[in-house]
Amino acid sequence: MDAAGDTARREARAGFGLFLRGARSGLGDIFMPPLCPACQGAVGAHDLLCLGCWAELRFIERPFCPVLGVPFAAEIGETIVSAEALADPPPFARARSAVLFDETARRLVHKMKYHDQPGAAGIVAALTLRAARELADAAEIVVPVPLHRWRLWQRRFNQSAEIAARLASEMGLRHLPAVLARTRHTRQQVGLSGREREANMRGAFRVPERWRPVIAGRHVLLVDDVYTSGATIKSAARALLRGGASAVDVVTFARAGIEPLG
Ligand SMILES: [Zn+2]
Repeated sequence: MDAAGDTARREARAGFGLFLRGARSGLGDIFMPPLCPACQGAVGAHDLLCLGCWAELRFIERPFCPVLGVPFAAEIGETIVSAEALADPPPFARARSAVLFDETARRLVHKMKYHDQPGAAGIVAALTLRAARELADAAEIVVPVPLHRWRLWQRRFNQSAEIAARLASEMGLRHLPAVLARTRHTRQQVGLSGREREANMRGAFRVPERWRPVIAGRHVLLVDDVYTSGATIKSAARALLRGGASAVDVVTFARAGIEPLG
């Protein structure tokens, strides 16, 4: 990471704390008027979404499947597990996401991914933290889904690790970004069917030998930016369990491709 990247990361980290504690103001505003990290519209303070973008975010609220975290169309009880989770039980215990992956969420993830708007990271992390609250008691360590090495180099920024670092810090847990390693290069998932995605991601991750004693018997909170088909998340969760973790919960900022379950 170069010096500019380091500076930006520090600023993004500082922004997160301030986002949680209230608006920032001061000399910086003279040089950099606050802009909405999603749409670049003017806002009252740094690291805040404008009201329009805020209103467009679709928060995932109860009732939802306690396993998959996918919202139900109607209130059917807190403990009812969806037919989908029963038919195809995931390797993780629980998955939660903050918002549906619609246009505003997509813009925030994109800004964060390409790091052209540091304020986006603070907002994404704060909202993800909100979704992770109910997983906090069980979690012992926080692990992000890793980028493949060439993608890390290309973008020089793993947004999942950025979110995970902030969650771990706020939850008082250890952030262990090297616990999951990619075993090989996987194809881009775009355009693949559900079955092809599963095959593409099978065995894509492993826990390196030196990390096994660290995660043995631990309850892991696995972090990613977007839950899409679940192929990546499930493959990563299986690798953690194979590596010795006792259980895996999942939290992502956004959740793609879901219709409320009936
Ligand atoms: Zn906006």
